[in-house]
Amino acid sequence: DAKSQGQNHVCLFDEALDEALRLRHRIESGLAQAIGRGELAMVFQPILARDGLDVAGFEALLRWDTEEWGTISPATFIPVAEETALIHALGDWVLERSLAAVADWPGQYVSVNFSPRQFRRPNFVGYVVERCQRAGVAPSRLQIEITETAIFDDVDHAADTLYRLRQMGFRIALDDFGTGYSSLYNIRKFPLDVLKIDRSFVDAMVREPAAAAAVQAVVHLAGALGLDVVAEGVETPAQVDLLRATGVSHLQGFHFGYPLTRDDASKCAIARSIIQDAPDCAAPQRS
Ligand code: C2E
Ligand code: MG
Ligand code: MG
Ligand code: MG
Repeated sequence: DAKSQGQNHVCLFDEALDEALRLRHRIESGLAQAIGRGELAMVFQPILARDGLDVAGFEALLRWDTEEWGTISPATFIPVAEETALIHALGDWVLERSLAAVADWPGQYVSVNFSPRQFRRPNFVGYVVERCQRAGVAPSRLQIEITETAIFDDVDHAADTLYRLRQMGFRIALDDFGTGYSSLYNIRKFPLDVLKIDRSFVDAMVREPAAAAAVQAVVHLAGALGLDVVAEGVETPAQVDLLRATGVSHLQGFHFGYPLTRDDASKCAIARSIIQDAPDCAAPQRS
């Protein structure tokens, strides 16, 4: 009857929730030991200038290889780390490895993702400056990727942090642009160098005129403000054609290159091309 069915539902829901919590707990404790166990790795995905031939920089992306679950996506474990203090240890490792990598490249920047909690830590600016000095890397070689979530909570503090970062010479990119809140406000209020258009737009623009129009509008706006625009998640020639027509300045995605190991990224950086000079670099390496 309906009543026992209802109870069954409650019971199933409890079990699912319980299972999710258990898994989460295991991810959390596994992650706490991941650095020490050498289970983390950085990969670097090329960001191409508009013609698709010149490698302007690389986005640093974290990988976690576990015995138990294989490779887990950062989309799964970063939020867990973000809810605990683990993000600081992980983020520190990411920054150190990313700065070590960029030091080998002839001129490209490394674009590093910082979670909201990292960005909001006390004296974030001093921390990043110190890490760059220690690595012997000029601030202009580090692009700091944050999302709108990071600036949403405390707008004044975020603005102050971004102005100081800018003053030190870091590049600032707003990641996943178009998916957060108050986008127009953010690009007016904050000193930014780059807008990264979320791949959901790139994906939709071949089917939805509204998505293509939105991308076009963002490119115009960015141009008027002197910002670069990176289109994320470019996978097909049709997307490349549409994006080029908008005048977008930079492209990133599997169509041009998968995330690469540090060694392959270095070859790619030195060749300045993933298409002509260093075909190895384009070898699929699914994340
Ligand atoms: P994100 O910063 O937007 O990074 C881009 C994501 O899109 C990466 O996923 C990349 O592998 C993927 N991608 C690139 N090109 C394509 C494409 O053509 N098609 C598709 N379908 N995907 C593409 P990944 O590496 O799994 O990272 C997911 C998210 O996890 C990142 O999104 C970022 O928010 C976060 N993340 C990754 N590494 C770090 C890190 O070191 N620190 C922090 N705080 N977050 C990180
Ligand atoms: Mg990013
Ligand atoms: Mg992104
Ligand atoms: Mg994204």
